[in-house]
Amino acid sequence: MVLDNLGSSLRGSLDKLQGKSRLDKDDVQEIVKEIQRSLLSADVDVSLVMDLSDSIKTRALEEDPPAGTSARDHVLKIVYEELVGLIGDSTEIPLEPQTIMLAGLQGSGKTTTAAKMAWWFSKKGLRPAVIQTDTFRPGAYDQAKQMCERAEVDFYGDPDADDPVQIAEEGLEATEDADVHIVDTAGRHALEADLIDEIEEIESVVQPDLNLLVLDAAIGQGAKEQAQEFDGSIGIGGVVITKLDGTAKGGGALTAVNETDSSIAFLGTGETVQDIERFEPNGFISRLLGMGDLKQLSERVERAMAETQAEDDDWDPEDIMKGSFTLKDMKKQMEAMNKMGPLDQVLDMIPGLGGGLKDQLPEDAMDVTQDRMRKFEVIMDSMTDAEMENPRSVGAQQVRRIARGSGTDEETVRELLQQHKMMERTLKQFQGMGDGDMQRMMKKLQN
Ligand code: GDP
Repeated sequence: MVLDNLGSSLRGSLDKLQGKSRLDKDDVQEIVKEIQRSLLSADVDVSLVMDLSDSIKTRALEEDPPAGTSARDHVLKIVYEELVGLIGDSTEIPLEPQTIMLAGLQGSGKTTTAAKMAWWFSKKGLRPAVIQTDTFRPGAYDQAKQMCERAEVDFYGDPDADDPVQIAEEGLEATEDADVHIVDTAGRHALEADLIDEIEEIESVVQPDLNLLVLDAAIGQGAKEQAQEFDGSIGIGGVVITKLDGTAKGGGALTAVNETDSSIAFLGTGETVQDIERFEPNGFISRLLGMGDLKQLSERVERAMAETQAEDDDWDPEDIMKGSFTLKDMKKQMEAMNKMGPLDQVLDMIPGLGGGLKDQLPEDAMDVTQDRMRKFEVIMDSMTDAEMENPRSVGAQQVRRIARGSGTDEETVRELLQQHKMMERTLKQFQGMGDGDMQRMMKKLQN
């Protein structure tokens, strides 16, 4: 995740301010140093880091915290506002018919992003089509076609043609029933004159409403040059930062956005078509600072719940809050969790939980958890309906049978039953809660 360290390192300095009502010069100096260290190690441009830390320093010392605000909250707010200011608003993407062209170097994630964006538009009720003009990279056609099939969106490409301009022209005609056209272009290993010539030619035929530059989050300082070059030739209206799920630093991409006065449109957070997020500066920075991103989280939860429910008419998540919690409910909940994406990303979005809890977990804890969830699912498939409805009735003999049937071991089956008991107990507490209790709990989580 971009600038991943910022949240945790900053939290350390901020925690030292606990109980203070005013900041002195040393406090501010220490915080600013932490921010500089994090941003620089994340590949953000030096002059940008200096500008940012100067404004934070000045504001933290000169502005009085509003009455009742602790020094810690005050400085956190300033850091938050300055970072939001640095990144700027998100690129405007109207939900209407339009043509979007993607540019970028080979491997930056253009083809993947084209399919992801098409999926995103289709979820918003539009009819998108992807036009693949990359004749340079072998495999680009098949990859785009497969991803578009998975995303259930229109696709045009011609594996035998070698003129991208002609493909673009024919593609627009062939997909005229679609309302949003996403044109994928070829990349090169490096910025080369023929790449720029080619993209300019495609642009003159396609006449896109918006050109997006696709940047790999790992790109580092080279981002600046790329952004300037593409901006100078076709004009860049926004940036897509991909591979944010990896260990990439992302600071280079942020620098590029700032350099070209453009903004961020989308973030890529994985390899499947659903792993795309509309960029929301406020949520993004909140997440960065370990303050959570409730909006993204609730969107994901809602989508996952709706999808899981759509697959099974008899199951309503609200029933859990009312009645008993069976293994069937637990299975549905796990399916919904899987749809929300990798657990570590979901945890990042929970305020107060994200950074803090995750930092305390061993590196591979998340994988283990997902691995365990998959095992649990296999085990549940080997259980009878009656056992799923009433897991407490499962005795030693059944445990043996289920372990054998699912190809797992008795210990894991018992773990599953134990996990179910724990979840049931937790839910019982929720069920006894009034609305006021719930709000108090949420508040506690946010602090
Ligand atoms: P292109 O050459 O610019 O079209 O790049 P591709 O779309 O083929 O992407 C290059 C590689 O990066 C592929 O293996 C993709 O699966 C992978 N990729 C693209 N976006 C993401 C992302 O957001 N996260 C991860 N983990 N991988 C990505």
